[in-house]
Amino acid sequence: MTIERKLLIRSHKHQFERIDDYFVRMAGTNGFSSTNRLIKYFRSWIKTKELNCRGIDKADTTAQILSLYLGRKIEAKSFDRLTFARLYQNLKICKACFSKNKAIPFYWYLDDYCWCHTHHEPLHHTASKQKEAEKYDYTVAHPIVDFLDCDDPWSAYCSMLRSEQELRWLCYRLKQFSETHLATHTHIAEAIGWIDSANTCEYLSSDRFERVTSLMAEHSKQSASHLRLVAALLIWQRMVPDHLFHVAGSGAESATEASLEWASRQLIAYEPMLRFISDAHQAPRNTPKLRLRDYIPMLSSLDENTDKALRKAIYSCGLTTDFFSNASSIYNQIGFNCPSPDMV
Ligand SMILES: [Zn+2]
Repeated sequence: MTIERKLLIRSHKHQFERIDDYFVRMAGTNGFSSTNRLIKYFRSWIKTKELNCRGIDKADTTAQILSLYLGRKIEAKSFDRLTFARLYQNLKICKACFSKNKAIPFYWYLDDYCWCHTHHEPLHHTASKQKEAEKYDYTVAHPIVDFLDCDDPWSAYCSMLRSEQELRWLCYRLKQFSETHLATHTHIAEAIGWIDSANTCEYLSSDRFERVTSLMAEHSKQSASHLRLVAALLIWQRMVPDHLFHVAGSGAESATEASLEWASRQLIAYEPMLRFISDAHQAPRNTPKLRLRDYIPMLSSLDENTDKALRKAIYSCGLTTDFFSNASSIYNQIGFNCPSPDMV
């Protein structure tokens, strides 16, 4: 029986350490002159195990190899390399955390994480770059702190950012749409202010949409339910994967499932919209007589192209078929008779 020779120091990966930082740390503590030497070492180890070593520099593969080698699960974590690919000389660290954990937690790579939430001290640049350190408000905890208890804080943090980005997109899109097509002004400053200042991660996704649309409605002196319907239509329109995507503008890539779900609920909660969905379900597709503006009073000023674009979004996303089954039960609940197609 042969005893396998392994690295002498096989320390545990810190909970918030990136896999490549862990790799660097392992190389250092075991006396390798560079991480490349350690990679070389692992390549030869992989060969003896007849494993595939392609992509050893990718986080997932590295994590798999290390898990096998160390005999315990090493998490890769879903890091966004573009966001985190910062130069090391710009890295800010908390000296107290570093001397305790001997590891670099991933959130030190976030540009705006400047205040250690454990030691309540500003982070310091590892090199002599002290500039700009004063412009931050250290009293506000970075939002990443709220997610550190999650299994995957980075992805939770990212989805929070994505949903904020989406709320902002919705505000600007609503403003643009109402000015261009409905000859009304939607005041978004208060809603944007709320998104910027509130700890929006404390709210459920649907509450965030309700809050933002309420603020816009209140300050624009519009009906909140009308505004929500338009918001819902715009969210659906953004999901259409052809040219309408581009018409809808930037922000499409940040769409979340939660917003689509919210939008769907808004659409079927609005009676004239529900009537439209019902008729569209029964009528031949894109029949010219079936126009949103004939059903929904606040959209009465829409031109044909815009009306068509919104209708197309509803058809393309399967709303007329998928939601009709849900809709029919709601019809019964509200005592609304399903109208026949000839009412248009
Ligand atoms: Zn600290």
